[in-house]
Amino acid sequence: MVKRVHFYPDHDFPGEGVYSVFCPGCKCDHPFRVGKSRNLPNWSFNGDMEKPTFSPSMLVNKDRPGGRCHSYVENGEIRFLSDCFHDLKGMTVELPEMDDDGDPVLNLQKGEG
Ligand SMILES: [Zn+2]
Repeated sequence: MVKRVHFYPDHDFPGEGVYSVFCPGCKCDHPFRVGKSRNLPNWSFNGDMEKPTFSPSMLVNKDRPGGRCHSYVENGEIRFLSDCFHDLKGMTVELPEMDDDGDPVLNLQKGEG
C-alpha cells in the first residue's frame, strides 16, 4: 500500500497522534496533530494514508517570512500558497511516498555527466 503519511501515535490518548507528511518545498516533515486531548493546535484528517486531506492549512514559521511555508494537503497533494519562501510556492505537487520508518521515498536520479 502506498502511504504518503506516517503516523506517530500518542500513547496517552488512543486514536490520537501526529500524522507527518514530507514537504518537498522545505525538504522536511510537517506534522499534523489529530485529536483534541492535549489542547494543542489540531487538524481534521480524512483517514486516507495514500490520499490524505488535512484541514485547515499548515502554516510553518508564520512570523519568519524567510522560512515560511503555507500549504494545503488535499487528496495526496500539497498545494503551496504564494507566501512560501521556497521554489514550490504557488504550485501543487504530489506528496512523496513514506516508508515504514517515516522517511520519504525519494526517487533521486543520477544526473548525466
Ligand atoms: Zn514546507
